[in-house]
Amino acid sequence: MTVLEVIQKSTEFLAKKGIESPRLQAELLLAHLLKMPRMHLYLNFDRRLSDAELSALREMVKRRAQREPLQYITGSANFCGLELVVNRHVLIPRPETELLAQKGWEFLLNCGVEQPKALDFGTGSGCIAIALAVHCQRAEVWAIDCSEAALGVAKLNAERHGVLDRIRFVASDGFDALPAELRLDLIISNPPYIPSSQIERLQPEVRDYEPRQALDGGHDGLDYFRKLAAGAAPLLKPGGVLMVELGDGAADATRAVFEQRGWIVAGIECDYNGKARILIARPGNAVQA
Ligand code: GLN
Repeated sequence: MTVLEVIQKSTEFLAKKGIESPRLQAELLLAHLLKMPRMHLYLNFDRRLSDAELSALREMVKRRAQREPLQYITGSANFCGLELVVNRHVLIPRPETELLAQKGWEFLLNCGVEQPKALDFGTGSGCIAIALAVHCQRAEVWAIDCSEAALGVAKLNAERHGVLDRIRFVASDGFDALPAELRLDLIISNPPYIPSSQIERLQPEVRDYEPRQALDGGHDGLDYFRKLAAGAAPLLKPGGVLMVELGDGAADATRAVFEQRGWIVAGIECDYNGKARILIARPGNAVQA
């Protein structure tokens, strides 16, 4: 079979299985297998696939038909132009989160501190921490996660992008495992924020494959915001800020969580779809050390 025939057959199969954008998905899987940019497939329509290539592709297409996300099958995802390793231990980084990371490094570059310090709370694949370290070379970045397996992936990604020596990875559920004297200019987080009862209603790609502990934010989705509102202020230097990603439709409820603890919400920013997505807050009279 040729490249074109294989694309057509795989597209048909994925379409029959109800997968969205079946042609694109088929092309991305084949491009990954043949180690070429997707557009090069179009220059190679007549290339014949070997039996080994065909069976490897069949295997990948089968996995995608069973709703496994493309990024877990290829083992990689793009975040802020950085190619990251991903597997089922980590959430697949989302485009909305790129905006949060960008806000973060812009703050670090402009906060007037010579060597700013930032903490990524719940780093997962390491996407935010690594983007901060890459874009602000002067920054010292801390990255925590309660999952050792996720930290393994994050370290691998940091090494790939040459910032392993500038990010401290700490296994920690909450802030407890951090050094007591650590003071930060920025705390940034895309925490789990899906209300537990809504997880069953997510698309199968997310519900059945992404780590539940990276999604589940408790009964109202706000558990991690409560943790941040209660514990983050003492870790911030004067002038330090907190930036978090918000769940769909959760801006008002999340703002209330922070305001009840004495935080001042300095801004709420929208994503590319016009949805409130990022909350920026300062401790105000939240108890600081
Ligand atoms: N910080 C990582 C990300 O934004 C992981 C987030 C999570 O696991 N909730 O993708």
